[in-house]
Amino acid sequence: MSETHTETKAIAHAECLVIGGGVIGSSIAYHVAKEGRSTIMLERWIPGEGASGAAVGMLAAESEEFTDHELARFARASRDAFPELVSDLERLSGISVQFRTEGFVTPFRSEAEGQKRWNAAKMREDDCHVWWDAREVARRIPGLADQVIGAIYRSKETQVAPVQLCRAYAGAAAVLGATIWSGTQAKELVIQGGRVCGVRTDIGFFSCDQVVIAAGLDSSKLLGQIGFDYPLYPVKGEAVAVSLKDHPLDYTIYADDVYLVPKQNNELWIGATSLPHQYDKEVTAGGLKGLLERASVWLPCVHEAAFIRAWAGLRPQAAAERPFIGPVPGVEGAYAAVGHYRNGVLLSDATGRAMAAMLKGADAAELGISKFPSELLKEESL
Ligand SMILES: Cc1cc2nc3c(=O)[nH]c(=O)nc-3n(C[C@H](O)[C@H](O)[C@H](O)COP(=O)(O)OP(=O)(O)OC[C@H]3O[C@@H](n4cnc5c(N)ncnc54)[C@H](O)[C@@H]3O)c2cc1C
Repeated sequence: MSETHTETKAIAHAECLVIGGGVIGSSIAYHVAKEGRSTIMLERWIPGEGASGAAVGMLAAESEEFTDHELARFARASRDAFPELVSDLERLSGISVQFRTEGFVTPFRSEAEGQKRWNAAKMREDDCHVWWDAREVARRIPGLADQVIGAIYRSKETQVAPVQLCRAYAGAAAVLGATIWSGTQAKELVIQGGRVCGVRTDIGFFSCDQVVIAAGLDSSKLLGQIGFDYPLYPVKGEAVAVSLKDHPLDYTIYADDVYLVPKQNNELWIGATSLPHQYDKEVTAGGLKGLLERASVWLPCVHEAAFIRAWAGLRPQAAAERPFIGPVPGVEGAYAAVGHYRNGVLLSDATGRAMAAMLKGADAAELGISKFPSELLKEESL
């Protein structure tokens, strides 16, 4: 943190400056620009190159079965905003985000487990699900394994292409007047009299009235510089794409041990491993083998599918189940939206909306996310 403002001339000024061009930063830039406020987004690479570029793109608000009620509501609101959001983003940016609305299927091989999960699902009154028995599953998804005894079908779950979503957010933000500085790395926030007044970067100084740190896993460093100790750690995830030539799948299969997500051109994306505290982005042979084996138990034709590519990314995980979205304690004008772990794509719209409202003075309680900034701080300090 720099307390003395020595910069003579800023490269540019904005009311709001967002650090990070993943789905979270890009969504915030979009929602802030949409309110007519001057906005700058700094991205050290290009938008969508971080964890967002490794995501599979599921908007699994119900299938995730969140136990935190605020988070569950926030996730549903985010998912439910997508039809309108997608239409706005595609119109403004000209980028298709490959939105798919066929719904998600969680299949079971054990009667006891299926019954238990269906009973639990029925308790979630805001969710939208039906039970398919074995015959219905076989009718709807002919290639699914014979041992499936039934499945929960969630008709409102949707999915997108995450890189395209990220670039559509950024593109739409630019059309609405935001300036996107790709290839620009924020080095430190500049603070004057306890208030943020700009950001020093590798190409010079940017001045602003408010700053939002949305730099994914690397946010901890920037937050630490301004006295906010907020640890984040990576949960590495590997995924693989194969080509299903003769057996196109419509539904996303969201099983407990693997998910199979149909994409354009008969691609099937299979994910994902979950490896806490691993910082590398290598795909291991073991990881790949495990994913393909688990996928082909549910959908045997995966055995014959052609391999396309495999990749890995680092999910930004915080100590709590929910992300931190709110003002940074002790520094006026500084905010953060971090720790979206395995649901950043899903939560991107609601996070962008909530942050745009907070920057105009709304508090977390009135946005229905009172625990996102405050309770977490209490938990962290335990
Ligand atoms: C295999 C896998 C599958 C996943 N599938 C899903 C899914 O189906 N659905 C879902 O909702 N989520 C999914 N996720 C999780 C999702 O990818 C993350 O939650 C989300 O991408 C986090 O977004 P972010 O914007 O916070 O971080 P990032 O995407 O990492 O963005 C942060 C950005 O900040 C930039 N940056 C960092 N430091 C600086 C700096 N100093 N200056 C300027 N720029 C900086 C980085 O370059 C990066 O572009 C998946 C993740 C993985 C790994």
